Amino acid sequence: MATIIDGKAVAARVRAEVAAGVSALVAETRGPPGLATVLVGEDPASAIYIANKQKASAEVGIEGRDHRLAADVSQDEVAELLASLNDDPAVSGILLQLPVPAHLDGDALTALIDPGKDVDGLTPISAGALAQGRPGLRPCTPLGVIELLDAYDVPLEGTEAVVVGRSLLVGRPLVFLLLERNATVTVCHSRTRDLPAVCARADVLVAAVGSPRLIGADAVRPGAAVIDVGINRTDDGLAGDVDFEAASQRAGLITPVPGGVGPMTIACLLRNTLQAARAAHGAARVR
Ligand code: NAD
Repeated sequence: MATIIDGKAVAARVRAEVAAGVSALVAETRGPPGLATVLVGEDPASAIYIANKQKASAEVGIEGRDHRLAADVSQDEVAELLASLNDDPAVSGILLQLPVPAHLDGDALTALIDPGKDVDGLTPISAGALAQGRPGLRPCTPLGVIELLDAYDVPLEGTEAVVVGRSLLVGRPLVFLLLERNATVTVCHSRTRDLPAVCARADVLVAAVGSPRLIGADAVRPGAAVIDVGINRTDDGLAGDVDFEAASQRAGLITPVPGGVGPMTIACLLRNTLQAARAAHGAARVR
């Protein structure tokens, strides 16, 4: 039976570190880091995500700014708001909640965010920096995956890592973070032939698909570390991309859903915001 990775506990540790870092920064600069969230429209799931991010920010001393725009706002109006946030020194991080309504171009809007404030790590500049191994802000969920593996002392260097999913949000950036740690990385996606056989090679298996219980016991190498990013609403409640009951019989370590990767995403967002504030403060001091 696998050890169950406690994402809530690891996330609490990260939040406490961020809170301490925020206090130190405030003592030094007298200004807290600021996280501006931008929500367009009234999608209830997005509104809950934003509320959770704002609440978590307040708990660690980050000043939240909750910008809400009507669903029929124009591309230019959102762009103007982003430009004003880019210019505002009290704003350390900017988060544009995706997806935006269909008449807006979410990719183009994301690209307008100052890379120094890109706490979601999703602008082309941030993605390029990650791909080239240069410093920058990294996407929160993939960071959370690496943090969990580190918290449980899972070795990465030289190991076989398999990532299922190649999205810009999770799978693809995770590939680069794993490469940075010298893992041998295989990426699987919807056209992969014989998914279970490829997954079964993995010392570290990460599923980020959005398909309930896709990864069964036959896809898990005995003793592997299995990280389940998936969050799927099913008739019998939340389910991950991994068949937890079956996979936990073979894995060495496994994340539950909920309580695994989920709590890490917001914790890493807070850490990114602190990192952005520190960098801005450092840059301001140099000038
Ligand atoms: P996405 O839909 O953008 O990408 C899914 C990826 O899975 C694609 O690259 C696709 O090629 C691949 N895929 C689809 N079907 C497949 C199959 N049968 N076999 C192999 N690969 C297949 O999704 P996403 O944004 O990366 O999110 C993935 C999951 O992670 C979702 O359940 C989402 O809710 C969840 N998620 C969780 C968090 C968190 O904080 N825990 C954050 C982001 C996303």
